[in-house]
Amino acid sequence: MGSLDGKVALVTGGSRGIGAAIAKRLAEDGADVAITYERSADKAAKVVAGIEELGRRGLALQADSADAAAVTSAVDHVAEELGGLDILVNNAGISIAAPLDELSLDDIDRTLAVNVRAVLVATQAALKHLPRGGRVVSIGSDLAERVPFAGMSLYSASKAALIGFTRGLARDLGPRGITATVVHPGSTNTDMNPADGPASAAQVPHIALGHYADAADVAATVSHVAGPDGRYLTGTAITVDGGFTA
Ligand code: NDP
Repeated sequence: MGSLDGKVALVTGGSRGIGAAIAKRLAEDGADVAITYERSADKAAKVVAGIEELGRRGLALQADSADAAAVTSAVDHVAEELGGLDILVNNAGISIAAPLDELSLDDIDRTLAVNVRAVLVATQAALKHLPRGGRVVSIGSDLAERVPFAGMSLYSASKAALIGFTRGLARDLGPRGITATVVHPGSTNTDMNPADGPASAAQVPHIALGHYADAADVAATVSHVAGPDGRYLTGTAITVDGGFTA
């Protein structure tokens, strides 16, 4: 018996990195899991194959988070195909690192569309389906809380927006018995932020544990929040950053 037996989850941006680890973990916990992706159809298919190997139903849908109509229809499609939706994980995100005066309007619009607007749109669509006990988990960043180096103003602004959103959402959804939380990863070894990449030297000295997270470390906290033991967590954020913000 898994803690998520009989549940249906949707993880946006589940083809790689943290989203793929969350999809795998929720399936290990017993959920049927759908993922969205933008470009990586092959990698998304492998994530689905992994979910199915665990004996769960998996589904991959191409949906650019910057396209609000695509996001809404992906959410509805998942609920129809998998018979409902219990857990929404807003994970898809992009990071454009540059000083503010070097960012284009397109950079700003794209970041806000994927990292912020899509989270609101996906959640709005999910609310048609989420039952009592439902969960909305959004993946923020420790850079929403502390920014110890330059070039992150746009990204940090986009992730800080999820904190306010989640607090307000918790108030809207409390009477319906649905929770809303943010999980803030710290430096996590993925394509976005490889542990052996050029940006790691600026990050590691700030991490109390002295090394990057594995995506599974973030997925473990999402599993807790999404499961029955997370039922009293709402309107708040949990930071999984090895002490980066300590
Ligand atoms: P990756 O770049 O490794 O993976 C991003 C995932 O999101 C991929 O599955 C990608 O799909 C998908 N994605 C990106 N843009 C879109 C889009 N427009 N529409 C749909 N899907 C999209 O990122 P991480 O796994 O590192 O990051 C996951 C989340 O965690 C993000 O929100 C990020 O901001 C956050 N985070 C990451 C940290 C880190 O150190 N890695 C630290 C703090 C927060 P595809 O494969 O098709 O491109």
